[in-house]
Amino acid sequence: MRSVFLGPPGAGKGTQARQLAAEGLTKHVSTGDLLRAEVERGTPLGIKARQFMDQGKLVPDDLVFEILFGCLEQGGKPLRSFILDGFPRNRAQALELDRRLQALGQSLTRVINFKFSEEAAVGRLSSRLLCRQCQAAYNEATAPPKSNLSCDLCGGTLQRRPDDEPEVVRNRFQEYRNKSAELVKYYEQAGLLVNVDAEQPANNVTVQVRKLLFDGGGR
Ligand code: AMP
Repeated sequence: MRSVFLGPPGAGKGTQARQLAAEGLTKHVSTGDLLRAEVERGTPLGIKARQFMDQGKLVPDDLVFEILFGCLEQGGKPLRSFILDGFPRNRAQALELDRRLQALGQSLTRVINFKFSEEAAVGRLSSRLLCRQCQAAYNEATAPPKSNLSCDLCGGTLQRRPDDEPEVVRNRFQEYRNKSAELVKYYEQAGLLVNVDAEQPANNVTVQVRKLLFDGGGR
């Protein structure tokens, strides 16, 4: 199963992918997480990427390619199963992904498009808390942690993402809207795309996503 999760910020792509990875069913590869790790470490790539991330803009493709493609191999062998979360963000990235997978003798098996409105995204992200250590997501309003300060799962410190401020979320959403139509078309034409209503309760989304990926829906 080699899958892409498309969808706007806050749609729950990361939460769903993380759960599947925690159960050992696949590997979760998030370009946002990879970029934030570079920013945190203060690497030259992280310093460049941060200028774009802080404003809710897309990081240039070459920087994203540099950190991503090594993650699709392990010990010189292509990963058998992965979910890409937050990649591709535009057609050029989708083409490059296809090219790299082809070179590894692979192709995508499923693309899930998480449908989610801007208002829902602003609402969800303004009360989101994330664990610095394991990236688990909480919501102060709908799914609060047992303690406001630490992660229920690993005890890590909880924090807000600087780009979850409503103004930045609107920029991120705008970036998403500008590019998502071409991506949806690209994967529709490839016969890979399935839409999921991501505004329904998270458990329903989970059931639907699993069916699509594993019950013959994964091709
Ligand atoms: P995310 O965690 O997916 O919401 O991504 C957070 C931020 O990282 C985005 O707002 C972008 O600035 C950057 N980013 C993540 N993935 C990509 C990508 N595939 N292409 C360009 N920028 C990205």
